[in-house]
Amino acid sequence: MAPNLPASVNGGTIATESQVEPLPETTTLPPTRSVPAIAHPTPEDAFGVAANIKYHAQYTPHFSPFKFDPEQAFYSTAESVRDTLIQRWNDTYAHFHKIDPKQTYYISMEYLQGRALTNAIGNLNLTDAYAGALSKLGHGLEIIMEQERDAALGNGGLGRLASCFLDSLATLNLPAWGYGLRYKYGLFAQRITKKGQEEYAEDWLEKFSPWEIVRHDVVYPIRFFGKVQAESDGSRKWVGGEVMQALAYDVPIPGYMTKNTISLRIWEAKAPPQDFDLYSFNSGEHEKAAILQSKANQICAVLYPGDATEDGKLLRLKQQYLLCSASLQDIIARFKERRPKHAIKWTDFPNKVAVQMNDTHPTLAIPELMRILMDEEGLGWDEAWAITGSTVAYTNHTVLPEALEKWSQVVMAKLLPRHMEIIAEIDKQFCQMVKSSRPDLVSKLEQMRVLDSNPHKPLVRMAHLCVVSSHTVNGVAELHSDILKRELFSDFCSLWPNKFQNKTNGVTPRRWLCFCSPELSAIITKWLQTDKWVTNLDLLAGLRQFADDEQLHKEWEAAKFANKVRLAEYLLKVTGVKVDPTSLFDTQVKRIHEYKRQFLNILGVIYRYKKMKEMGPEERKGVVPRVVMFGGKAFATYAQAKRIVKLVTDVGSVVNNDPDIGNLLKVVFVPNYNVTAAELIIPASELSQHISTAGMEASGTSNMKFALNGCLIIGTLDGANVEIREEIGNQNFFLFGVQADDVPRCREERMAGHFTPDPRFEEAKQMIRSKTFGDFDYEPLLDSLEGNSGYGRGDYFLVGVDFPSYIEAQKEIDIAYKDRRRWNHSSILSTAGSGKFSSDRTISQYATDIWNIQECRVP
Ligand SMILES: *Cc1c(COP(=O)(O)O)cnc(C)c1O
Repeated sequence: MAPNLPASVNGGTIATESQVEPLPETTTLPPTRSVPAIAHPTPEDAFGVAANIKYHAQYTPHFSPFKFDPEQAFYSTAESVRDTLIQRWNDTYAHFHKIDPKQTYYISMEYLQGRALTNAIGNLNLTDAYAGALSKLGHGLEIIMEQERDAALGNGGLGRLASCFLDSLATLNLPAWGYGLRYKYGLFAQRITKKGQEEYAEDWLEKFSPWEIVRHDVVYPIRFFGKVQAESDGSRKWVGGEVMQALAYDVPIPGYMTKNTISLRIWEAKAPPQDFDLYSFNSGEHEKAAILQSKANQICAVLYPGDATEDGKLLRLKQQYLLCSASLQDIIARFKERRPKHAIKWTDFPNKVAVQMNDTHPTLAIPELMRILMDEEGLGWDEAWAITGSTVAYTNHTVLPEALEKWSQVVMAKLLPRHMEIIAEIDKQFCQMVKSSRPDLVSKLEQMRVLDSNPHKPLVRMAHLCVVSSHTVNGVAELHSDILKRELFSDFCSLWPNKFQNKTNGVTPRRWLCFCSPELSAIITKWLQTDKWVTNLDLLAGLRQFADDEQLHKEWEAAKFANKVRLAEYLLKVTGVKVDPTSLFDTQVKRIHEYKRQFLNILGVIYRYKKMKEMGPEERKGVVPRVVMFGGKAFATYAQAKRIVKLVTDVGSVVNNDPDIGNLLKVVFVPNYNVTAAELIIPASELSQHISTAGMEASGTSNMKFALNGCLIIGTLDGANVEIREEIGNQNFFLFGVQADDVPRCREERMAGHFTPDPRFEEAKQMIRSKTFGDFDYEPLLDSLEGNSGYGRGDYFLVGVDFPSYIEAQKEIDIAYKDRRRWNHSSILSTAGSGKFSSDRTISQYATDIWNIQECRVP
């Protein structure tokens, strides 16, 4: 199972018996006598694959003929893989069509797919065949894989979760679709300069994506603005305004070792064809002629366009509506297509369709389904409401109040007048229901309502709309789900105690272990004497019995070391910093946010640096050399987060060039953190930091990826850390910090000034103030740590409160790392205890407890 990469295949030589002469500088396609070009959609051996790659290079060309450089080779290889995927995709959906099972539709604004080639050939078990084929054509698989750009249609954990879920849905043979948007540019690409973070457009479609298949026959009208008309029969109709189109692109998602291949369907906004106004164009008004087209292009231009302006807000709402409307029209079309017109029973809809909303971004699916059922299919309110309520379910991803979406009722009524009516009716009926059935909650009603009727700024609370309308609401880790029930949604929970569930997140072990660390995977398979752990991750627990085996320690350390060497080479290439791979590799990679507390980490690094400077040469000999890596993007308008990035790079510039320190400490900011970078960084890390203020991280998923790869965790009792620690054992987890329950009290104490800061904390801050790391203005950052400061938030994230216990935990880590046996033991137990955190487990639970869907395996 672990892909067996050829040791090193020289990009310009052909390794077949029939042809041994070296190729010229620019690789060209080998002549036909060695590899004929054959269109063979499902080749299984290296020769068949090579023939098919060659066919694509010649007959579906995207480049000038005759050249066959790695880039050209990548596209032809991807197209060859795509042939197999299309075949399986067709078989899968033909089978679903025949069986007509209940299907899940996962709607998400974000998918962080990363690269697809390695994953696809790995899941298809064709890695060796592709490596062999490429070598016949004069290339090495690894070089070819490197040509691919990440599909980064997401921002962070929420988007990556959606992608892991698709992999598990396909692998578990579950009948499902993913729905998303086809952004022209992803979030942004990050460059690190002297000024800190700079953003530039992430042009993932610059050439084209070989993985998407346009479906010119799958197009739906999408209306914006307009007005609502009362019809003579009492029904309501939304008319006028601007009508755009949503065009479908399908990205095939292969399951692991199964024929089942599902689809991520992403929508692109288009102007309707009649828009192009030839008359205007011919009379010289070139821009006016294509005005709708340009408006359409804006909708899917970027993920999370700035929403500081009214126009920006409108654009985001348009994106959300386009996603929901196109997806629901598609779902309904499929439901109708599968039964004769006279036999359509709408009450059967929830028996065939489960819609999962990934956070509140797809909330408009609720009023849109109501609208279609009532205004287009002619159902009454009660019937439509019952169907909608048994179809949709909602996953909450945050308790941060500022992240809970609210939309202006004015904007909503302008862009989606019919939906605003429906939302107001849902609110009204909810109020009536509470008044008649739960008089005890009437005093809470204003806070619970879907509409926030503040006369100055009336809002729609999207999370409340989701809770009121969904049959199930889930959090993403036990602690998070408890907080939802106890705090954020406590009143709703008293109303509907059975509506709330927990579904602890997971990650796919294919991408996050098998393919990103083939060395470690091979060792696991060898010691477990089976590769079944890849689809039954609980089997990893079998490693526990070998946790003290010296031979395993040797192999384990060697695999981790190889990954560290590979990462060190990468760091040198992208940052110019040379690191010693025998150092402790200490990593914090995730979106830059104050609650995730990269600031705490860098303050700890500063304190460590200061102590080392104070040591004599003898004492320094006892120091454990460390490479502290940071990575992650700060949202472009989040000034405080960007200051943190700048601080990390400034500290790095000083520490990395300090001759007293040498290799004892390196501080590296890895630019442009994305899935591909994660696949390199995670398998090479030995310690990873998941140090959010307790109660603020809903789950985290990179903590699971790291633990799976035998990386120890320093963390707070937050999100899934709690469960990870339970699974891998307390002694293998470096715990620090206050607990979620104590956070409100600590905050009050800080605000009231009843807090004596630790002298070590003061030393670290003082070092920044003293300009040791340059004269950038760090005052706003430092002020945010002060208790009674009017400028910051009174150390809202409790960096000062947790600093002492953080430093103590770091000391313990240094001691533990010197003891190789202890460290390797804990590392093995981390992997061994990661079984629970497979997204296969998460998805099975969603399938059983929320969606009520069953396996539908393609024969
Ligand atoms: C897993 C992953 C995340 C989520 O990281 P957290 O530490 O859980 O916030 C974000 N970005 C990428 C690229 C990932 O792979």
